[in-house]
Amino acid sequence: MDEINPQFLPWQADVLKRALALKHQQHLPHAVLIDTASEQDFSAFACYLSMLLLCDKPDNLATCGNCQACEMMQAGTYADYSLVTLEPNEKTKKLNKNINIEQIRKLIHEVSLTRRYERLKIAAIYPAEAMNKSSANALLKTLEEPAPQVLLMLLTHNRGRIPVTLRSRCQSWTIDPPARTQALEWLRVQGVQDEMATSYLQFAGGDPVLALHLKQHGYASLVSQFKSRFSQFLRSELSVTDLCRGLLSSETAIIRRLINMTLMAYCYQMSGVDANAEPRSGSDKCGAQAIMDLRLKAQQQLQIEENNLDLQLQLEDVLISLKQILTRRFI
Ligand SMILES: [Zn+2]
Repeated sequence: MDEINPQFLPWQADVLKRALALKHQQHLPHAVLIDTASEQDFSAFACYLSMLLLCDKPDNLATCGNCQACEMMQAGTYADYSLVTLEPNEKTKKLNKNINIEQIRKLIHEVSLTRRYERLKIAAIYPAEAMNKSSANALLKTLEEPAPQVLLMLLTHNRGRIPVTLRSRCQSWTIDPPARTQALEWLRVQGVQDEMATSYLQFAGGDPVLALHLKQHGYASLVSQFKSRFSQFLRSELSVTDLCRGLLSSETAIIRRLINMTLMAYCYQMSGVDANAEPRSGSDKCGAQAIMDLRLKAQQQLQIEENNLDLQLQLEDVLISLKQILTRRFI
């Protein structure tokens, strides 16, 4: 297993409490689907939750740290815990997009084996929405005939993409996003404060982990730089190639976010609902619709991650279309 540091975030505590209470009542389900709206990595949480359930003497939400389960979980050697996740492709070294059937078969076999220790056996699947159809079907049989003392944990960022047949056989636990004050407090502890924290939280749609990630990637300056360069592009003072070239040193996910945010901002502005927009006599519904269409198209076009040339071409295409929509309004 890769090294994962088991830990949890303050707003994940309710689900931990619930799990621990069910364990004490001996009412833990055979299978649970845990979902979070945040897109940030969830494996450290899966590992912490498992460690907490396996620990001999948890104190409140803290693991004891020195029972057999704690020590082995921390070392990644606890044989009755397994995590099935996206694996790197042998050739490209990039993560596969799916959890394949071989991985699920291995997990099913593992679950069927006798426990090594006198504790629960836990098998986690993350991100569960990445299971393809055959993987999900294979897992279904195991969910229908659960083995005793086994907890199957499906973790997802998008429960809507889990087949209903699987969902209906799992108990459902949701991790709610943090309240704004809790999110700001967490950011403060991470060293992001005041207006900086507020604006990054806004960029991240209220997700503090994403806000921190964006801060670490200098997103705010990327946004302001892009805004001024995009204005130059609209005035035809900068070529689309130069505009895009300036973006390509950033992570693809960051670029996608920036483009999406730009398109949304124009869409709001044209719909006349942007509070910061200049007072306008009327909204431009056709323009807003054209940008909404472009936004959907861009989301597909910018999925490309294989090489920068393709991404640059797709980016140029999106930005040229946006310019056409924006300049058409003034003709
Ligand atoms: Zn322990």
